[in-house]
Amino acid sequence: MSCLFCKIVAGEIPAAIVHQDNTLVAFRDINPQAPLHLLIVPRAHIATLNDLTEDQDALVGSMCRLAARLAKDHGYHERGYRTVFNTHRDAGQTVFHIHLHLLAGRGLSWPPG
Ligand code: 5GP
Ligand code: ZN
Repeated sequence: MSCLFCKIVAGEIPAAIVHQDNTLVAFRDINPQAPLHLLIVPRAHIATLNDLTEDQDALVGSMCRLAARLAKDHGYHERGYRTVFNTHRDAGQTVFHIHLHLLAGRGLSWPPG
């Protein structure tokens, strides 16, 4: 198993985990781009959004709902936050295990860089 996020999910590499359940793990990004920068990942290895299948629709929905819950837990649900999936080169994907970025705590410009 060479996938970095599979290793974090398995506890083989340490991470600042803020939530875990049967299907999802959320932890702090090692190089935060905002005061709150979490990564929400499924325990199952899925390389990119392109690889999702219909039976994973509920899993992705649960990732979005967890993002909203964690934003609320950290006090950002009304002020606002950003959720991002990067896919492949032009979007800057570097870890090929899907992860939902949750960024909050500063004004986030639009359009993104
Ligand atoms: P991507 O660019 O693929 O959308 O996002 C990958 C994210 O994973 C980056 O924001 C990067 O800082 C983060 N990251 C890379 N390696 C590690 C690590 O070992 N631990 C943690 N917690 N985050 C990591
Ligand atoms: Zn993986």
